[in-house]
Amino acid sequence: MTDRHGPPTPRPPGRSGRTGEAVGVAERLRGSVAERIAELLAGAAHPVGDVYVGWHAARDAATCPARYRGQGPEGWAFPGWTAPLAAASVGRAALAHHLDEADRSGLPPALPDPLPTIRLWMRALRGPAAGSGGGGGPPLERSAVGDWVADAWAAVDTATLTAVAATAARWLAGFVRVIGWPLPPKLGLLKASGPPPPTPGTSWRPAKASPVKVDMGADARLGRVTGAGRFGLLVHRVTTGDDASLCDRAAFEAAAGGLAIGVAPAEVLVTAGDTGDRARVAVDDGLLARGGDLITAVVRERATAVDRGFDAADASPSPACRRCELLATCSPGQAWIAGPGRWRGGLPVL
Ligand code: SF4
Repeated sequence: MTDRHGPPTPRPPGRSGRTGEAVGVAERLRGSVAERIAELLAGAAHPVGDVYVGWHAARDAATCPARYRGQGPEGWAFPGWTAPLAAASVGRAALAHHLDEADRSGLPPALPDPLPTIRLWMRALRGPAAGSGGGGGPPLERSAVGDWVADAWAAVDTATLTAVAATAARWLAGFVRVIGWPLPPKLGLLKASGPPPPTPGTSWRPAKASPVKVDMGADARLGRVTGAGRFGLLVHRVTTGDDASLCDRAAFEAAAGGLAIGVAPAEVLVTAGDTGDRARVAVDDGLLARGGDLITAVVRERATAVDRGFDAADASPSPACRRCELLATCSPGQAWIAGPGRWRGGLPVL
């Protein structure tokens, strides 16, 4: 079987591709990011609580620091699952379950029908693993997002289950549409299931017991992870979203992936299910540095938040103001909305 996306073993620009070189790049990135984070935590006016650094936090801190700080503790830690946030996690888990079932049957996996595939995975959350005797055994599927869905099921929260199934089915349909079927042979889903633990690692802390946790958001790896770093990370989005941030998304995932895996990837492939777009971004030192800046900016804003909290002086108005919970107390945001800005970024709020 050939990989329809070409050889997944690109050589990163500026690197020779020698074994161990990408490990050294990731080690230097770990060192510099950990050092900057340690300085920021030490310089905070008060102890800093948990800081969850995922793509959404990085984007929020980069686009409007005032809004990120104004979110309070709920926004600084892991935000918790919602139907839109769970789409990729549920879609990945359901796809992995679909592939595992095919493996168990010994047959090649059939093209997944999105919604039934999601529903089958949801049912597997409640069913015991094969060989457990049919009663009292652990469920076949276990994951953080799976536990959340199982709780919604137990609470008969039909609205949440329907919304999750719909968004996850959309993610899965777009993923298969853009990546193709059968999936490329060297594609491995990341963060897709419970035990055994997924490999490689997908999160990183700058030090033992550090309040900071960096979590990569890539959905899959393309190619085997080796010391030469000739592999890619794949980020699939349900919609095209804000294309202006595409390079930042690639930078964040390249850096977060390098930190978590301990090997710098060679490229990041960013795709969108609604348009079928695919953008390959080569990972060089500049992209990793940008990703490191995005990560440390989250910690900087968190450290500033314990001292100053929301401060309109740091506001950066944009179309996001139209849906911002802080608009009522943000004079720059109000001024932007009152001006021609309200006519940008979608229909105006009347
Ligand atoms: S209203 Fe706009 S400028 Fe003000 S905090 Fe919110 S997003 Fe930032």
